[in-house]
Amino acid sequence: MWKDLEISVVRCDSEERKAKPDQDNLGFGTFFTDHMFLMKWNRENGWHDAEICPYRNFSMDPAAMVYHYGQAIFEGMKAYKSDEGQIYMFRPEDNIERMNTSALRMCMPRIPVEKILKAMKALVYLDRDWIPDGDGATLYLRPTMIAVEPALGVRPSEQYYFFIIMSPVGAYYAEGFNPTKIWVTDKYVRAVKGGVGHVKTAGNYAASIMAAQEANRAGYTQVLWLDACDRKYVEEVGTSNIFFRIGDELITPPLGGSILAGITRDSVIQLAGSWGINVVERRISITEVIAAIEDGSLREAFGSGTAAVISPIGELCYQEKKYVIAKGETGELSQRLFNELQAIQNGKQDDPFKWVVRVG
Ligand SMILES: *Cc1c(COP(=O)(O)O)cnc(C)c1O
Repeated sequence: MWKDLEISVVRCDSEERKAKPDQDNLGFGTFFTDHMFLMKWNRENGWHDAEICPYRNFSMDPAAMVYHYGQAIFEGMKAYKSDEGQIYMFRPEDNIERMNTSALRMCMPRIPVEKILKAMKALVYLDRDWIPDGDGATLYLRPTMIAVEPALGVRPSEQYYFFIIMSPVGAYYAEGFNPTKIWVTDKYVRAVKGGVGHVKTAGNYAASIMAAQEANRAGYTQVLWLDACDRKYVEEVGTSNIFFRIGDELITPPLGGSILAGITRDSVIQLAGSWGINVVERRISITEVIAAIEDGSLREAFGSGTAAVISPIGELCYQEKKYVIAKGETGELSQRLFNELQAIQNGKQDDPFKWVVRVG
């Protein structure tokens, strides 16, 4: 069925095209490009009606299952433009494969990887004028799948939409690295083994908002999540994976079913490993982290994720005590990983791992 999935393309008329936003005030996810991708699924026809079309609203039954039980999954990825104007994407097949892992867990249908990659490239190319110029500015892609069957029984929906929308985003570090202050919570938990913490499903993010709000009110940018059973082992930071450089090891928590398998996390592990750094995936408790801060063996800590790539951590607050990391400055390895990953993504640097995909 998938091989018959034709993609129709309807372009905006010139008067339908939106004015481009001010490149210096893009923010994150506030402006959307002229076109989107959409396809539909039902039991009889599988995926069908695939189209690249002008960005538009959906009209949906208020009983659509996504509104009630949250059967929704998404991805986050970027398209980049080199100084020469060549467009690239970073490991896009990994995002599509991960979406299929999420789909499986949420009893949603698989998407065809090759077809979606093709559609993604066509969509990015069609809206290429929306990729902002300037170092670090990118076009953010948001592939999403939602349950649209109108029914109130709790069961897998028999109808779905899969769509991709795109948003130009500014450089995350327009004014240079600014290490973040992190709030360690032992009051709320993000995910539990056996649950859905390892997949990108909407409810995880709804559940995290309250902790983030409390952290923000206390003057902190992100929440550091501990494991849900003992509230002791470090899991993730906000919507990023986390790394600690202690002594001559680079330590990150293992993927045990409650942690999202970040593509940036995997890239950091491979890249640092190729530099001869000893990368260790193991459980690490918050007490071990604090002891390492206090005895000076913790040299740096950072988060990893598509949005910021590398996000240095300058301070932790745990049980009302503050702990400064690396004098509140950006660590040497954090900086090197950031520079190297960004250079690979922008096509400025060799790509030894074949991560980069050309568009157009
Ligand atoms: C998306 C996400 C990450 C980072 O994944 P990348 O593929 O590196 O962008 C980490 N943790 C959570 C909870 C996430 O949702």
